[in-house]
Amino acid sequence: MEQDITTELCVLQSHLDGMLDRVHHNSLTLKRLQAFEMRLLGLTALTEMIEFILGETKDLFDLDLVSLCLFDPKDEIVAHLASDHYPHQSRAGLLIVKDEDLFKNYFHFSDRPLLGMFNAEKYARFFDVESQCPSSVILAPLVRRGKYLGSLNLGSYCSNRFIRNMATDFIDHLASVLSVCLENTLNFETLRRTSLIDPLTGVNNRRFLEQRIEEEIDRSLRTRQSLSCLFLDIDYFKRINDTFGHQAGDHVLALVACTIKKHLRSNDVLSRYGGEEFVALLSESDNIRATEIAERIRKAIALLPFDHQEAKIAVTLSIGAATFQPTAAKSPTSEVAQRLIQAADTALYQAKFNGRNRVEEGGVIVGAADGGNAAV
Ligand code: GH3
Ligand code: MG
Ligand code: MG
Repeated sequence: MEQDITTELCVLQSHLDGMLDRVHHNSLTLKRLQAFEMRLLGLTALTEMIEFILGETKDLFDLDLVSLCLFDPKDEIVAHLASDHYPHQSRAGLLIVKDEDLFKNYFHFSDRPLLGMFNAEKYARFFDVESQCPSSVILAPLVRRGKYLGSLNLGSYCSNRFIRNMATDFIDHLASVLSVCLENTLNFETLRRTSLIDPLTGVNNRRFLEQRIEEEIDRSLRTRQSLSCLFLDIDYFKRINDTFGHQAGDHVLALVACTIKKHLRSNDVLSRYGGEEFVALLSESDNIRATEIAERIRKAIALLPFDHQEAKIAVTLSIGAATFQPTAAKSPTSEVAQRLIQAADTALYQAKFNGRNRVEEGGVIVGAADGGNAAV
């Protein structure tokens, strides 16, 4: 009898120890999850968020594989990432999905996670597995206001790590916090991008130029490479509006912007500065290259067929070019920026004065302490 009671006590003690171990383990996981979520809530850029999730979730849950699927029906996420020069196509674990049916079909319109053995046929689209496939997986849909934003997918090489009907409290919680953060970040990115883009032409606006020009000058000082600025203005644009109407004028503006952009490199900046005026910043370009590019743009515009109903609209551009050449003695960046744009604008004025449809060079600005322009 006493023997039986002792045995039962031992069994109970061992159960209790096991439960205490699990409580301890869960409380540690909870603390790590809270710390993880606090960091997640502090992120505002999409690229930071992607890196954080793909980089840290593995350690948080002690996993072998993590992937993040983002639902991007209108290529907006791709555009955000491309504008930040983020290598989204080659980032392991990041999958951008255009087809909402993937989520609807697999999650059956629910926000509950799927758990179980990995089935390549079913789950391959949620993981970009290069070598070993996971044995068990959990796919957590990211849902906000009834819409799928994507899914967070976790994999383990251990076949009984994720089994049907196991508790999913931690992952449920993480998926809801992640969904809120993702939605906020996407809204923030859209706002950031649209506030810096001119809706008519799709190129950046003047505010963007004002932010970027100082960064470009700093980069030029660091790399000791010249930075050139083109000021481009459509000739007699008012006449185009007056003759063909405002809508035709808008069409010309959009086509001019698109043509200028085609002649620039992807890291050059093009902004609509005002009505029919554009400013381009050409990094690592001296005055010779800048005038070559300006000539190419001028010729391309003059040759373009601008068709409007039955008529052909003749469009020409006048362009002023100026170059910043970095030197050891520096003026304040904001002052250099102002002088560079001013020099290109003065050259543009000269191009107008000399007959339009031409390029004029405004000389080279040096980053000198006396702030003087050194014409060459
Ligand atoms: P110049 O050769 O001296 O540059 O002559 P211009 O006619 O191009 O210059 P002006 O400054 O006299 O006229 C600019 C015109 O651009 C006047 C304005 O109505 C028009 N404009 C400004 N913004 C827009 C726009 O968004 N759409 C259209 N269609 N026209 C615009
Ligand atoms: Mg004009
Ligand atoms: Mg003008």
